[in-house]
Amino acid sequence: MRAITFQAPGEVRVDEKPDPEIAAADEALVRVEASGICGSDLHIFHGRVPVEPGFTIGHEFVGTVLAVGDDVERVAVGDRVLGCFHTACATCGACLRGDYHRCEHGRTFGHGSKLGDLQGAQAERLLVPRANLTLRRVPEGMTDEAALFAGDVMGTGYHAVAHAGMRSGDTVAVLGLGPVGLCAVQAALAGGAVEVFAIDSVGQRLEMARQFGAQPIHLTEEEPKRVVRAATEGRGVDVVVDAVGDPGPLEMAISLARDAGTVSGIGAYAGRGEVPLGLAWLKGQTLRLGLANVIAHVDRVLALMQAGKLDPSPLVTHHMKLDKAAEAYALYDQREALKIVLTP
Ligand SMILES: [Zn+2]
Ligand SMILES: [Zn+2]
Repeated sequence: MRAITFQAPGEVRVDEKPDPEIAAADEALVRVEASGICGSDLHIFHGRVPVEPGFTIGHEFVGTVLAVGDDVERVAVGDRVLGCFHTACATCGACLRGDYHRCEHGRTFGHGSKLGDLQGAQAERLLVPRANLTLRRVPEGMTDEAALFAGDVMGTGYHAVAHAGMRSGDTVAVLGLGPVGLCAVQAALAGGAVEVFAIDSVGQRLEMARQFGAQPIHLTEEEPKRVVRAATEGRGVDVVVDAVGDPGPLEMAISLARDAGTVSGIGAYAGRGEVPLGLAWLKGQTLRLGLANVIAHVDRVLALMQAGKLDPSPLVTHHMKLDKAAEAYALYDQREALKIVLTP
């Protein structure tokens, strides 16, 4: 089979590899029919997340089940399925609490030996452990390119809003309109937000947020704090989603959220950073951080997508063949694509 492998920082290529085979009772073998390139793949591409040369990358996928182990009950051979970006064991302390994203034995597809040594989905075949928990059948009528968002980007946008405890009638601001931020805009509106302020500096992304029903605010050409305050009688919004993941946006999030409001940081923070903790404390705010619990959300996300309340398809800006790995990664790296979908 063909597979996209990491070679060195800035270099990926298409390799010929042996087809994987079922080796454990909880595994399913999937023929991948569409896979996505994601922001986290860029961290690997640039060497910021260490992955062994020759490792197959990618973690967003849709395909058809070719074979299953004896313990796989929820999907069967021939089913069209989508995957979550990581696996969970279902039996550790974290899983029993429902915190699948903190599973003690969790493995992430396509992220090298440090994150579970699980070969990636940008390939023609994929071995899926814990298939009962990791895979879902694609609902009738849903396209491949929409379905592959459910187990990753849309699940993450949904988590950012759900994790903040957003309630129907709330006002929301979303900082950073990459794919996750745009999905958070949709999730907030689907969850009953009365107003969503969408903040970024890229015109095309602001326009997409506007089409989804948000009020776009240009980060530098407007003053987000003044616009948000003016629209909320000076209070600030109930919930702010930081979909960037840097101290600067987090500081802005704290300033945009109302007293006793919630800041939901879904962007990947790294290392140390300075934020006005005193202001957050004075305002009595709640800060909720971390990776998305997509396994816990995927059925609701699929139901909302099937009902037409969430629709990631406008985010797919490019379709490319698996063989064009180098071109696809170069294009994504230039930030000219929101989502590239690869097909065999
Ligand atoms: Zn992803
Ligand atoms: Zn677990």
